Amino acid sequence: MEPADVLARDRGLLWHPYAPLDGPPLYAVTGAAGVWLDLVAEDGQQFHVRDAMSSWWAVLHGYRNPLLDKAIHDQVDRFSHVMFGGLTHEPAVRVAEKLVALTPAGLDHVFLADSGSVAVEVALKVAVQYQQALGRPERTGFLALRGGYHGDTLGAMSVCDPVDGMHADFPDYVPAQSFLLRPPRAWRAGEGLASDPVEVASWITEAERVVAEVADRVAGIIVEPVLQGAGGMVVYAPEALVVLRRLATAYGLVLIADEIATGFGRTGRFFGSDWGAVVPDVMCVGKALTGGMMTLGAVVVSSPVAEVIAASRHRALLHGPTFMGNPLACAVASASLDLVVAGWAQNVPRIEAALVTALSPACELSVVREVRVLGAVGVIELAESVDIPRVTRAALERGVWVRPFRRLVYTMPPYISSDADLAAIGAGMVSAVADVYGGSAS
Ligand SMILES: *Cc1c(COP(=O)(O)O)cnc(C)c1O
Repeated sequence: MEPADVLARDRGLLWHPYAPLDGPPLYAVTGAAGVWLDLVAEDGQQFHVRDAMSSWWAVLHGYRNPLLDKAIHDQVDRFSHVMFGGLTHEPAVRVAEKLVALTPAGLDHVFLADSGSVAVEVALKVAVQYQQALGRPERTGFLALRGGYHGDTLGAMSVCDPVDGMHADFPDYVPAQSFLLRPPRAWRAGEGLASDPVEVASWITEAERVVAEVADRVAGIIVEPVLQGAGGMVVYAPEALVVLRRLATAYGLVLIADEIATGFGRTGRFFGSDWGAVVPDVMCVGKALTGGMMTLGAVVVSSPVAEVIAASRHRALLHGPTFMGNPLACAVASASLDLVVAGWAQNVPRIEAALVTALSPACELSVVREVRVLGAVGVIELAESVDIPRVTRAALERGVWVRPFRRLVYTMPPYISSDADLAAIGAGMVSAVADVYGGSAS
């Protein structure tokens, strides 16, 4: 099919994420290698551009990475899929052992899920089963942070921000949950994160009050550690994690860290939880787990929680998807984790420094409200909602693929991005904003 045919035949046939069938412009992908995407627009224009999104934060090692391609090829030559009920295989054992080794001590048991959202669903069920097993069947709710995002399936939707999320569109369908105010903002300062101590103290007081009030009806607390991603790329004070860890322990709640966006070094620590030196009871990973090659999520559970479930009536975790532990996904995840371990500690600080330099000229544009960088995440926040089709196109003209949302034009570049790639991504983003909103940034 010619790219023009792909674009024309897609219309009215396929839904794209959160877009109408006859939605905004689409671009057809004709190739991808390293940090580069080859795209064709509906007007026939071709673009060879750097991917600033890592395909929604997943493609850490670039497209057609030879080691990842080889891992999949080798596994295809053995077997591509087998059921996980009653069967096991080397790729699943290997990836689970690696996850246990990479997650904080005490997280020792792994459930393989099909995606991030499914990992969140499983984590929520772990918490509910845990409370049931302890004779607290009334503890079925959850406490989450305002401004959070945890996925699009029902349980995950329920713990997303109740205003920005889909609660209003699905009244009486999405379960009502309890929410804490967003923790105070934090920003990079020296080796760490800084925040306003007065704001932190008052947030802690409020958190203590809310947890005490809801503890007898919630099974757990779920958070995206330190960086709320899809909820607005907001960085918050790690003290909040420390307090939630303390409160979860005190009230017998399961602390779930949703590291689907923050895991594997993206924020400058291996896990976002590491900023607070906090060990959750349950950790969810996804997105970058396979280096963006296949869909795969995982839930890593502490021994005390797993032991309670093991002693419960069913003894099992009540979940088991058809494609659980898919061997191709597990094999490529193992290969990707090896690459992450070999490179993240050098690459993420390098990317952070490069993004600070490359994005700071945006501060001179009058439409820009804030520029912030944490690890391999760089954000230009505008004072108004982004004109997404125009900024997307302007960025393509400047050699960069971005996918803005709300007021944000942001990048989560692949870890393999060179310094030249990062300079070009930053310059392209700044120029695109200047092209659409006026002003020049030197
Ligand atoms: C993307 C994301 C999810 C959902 O993952 P999917 O693979 O899209 O289902 C959950 N939590 C966080 C923090 C995410 O960023």
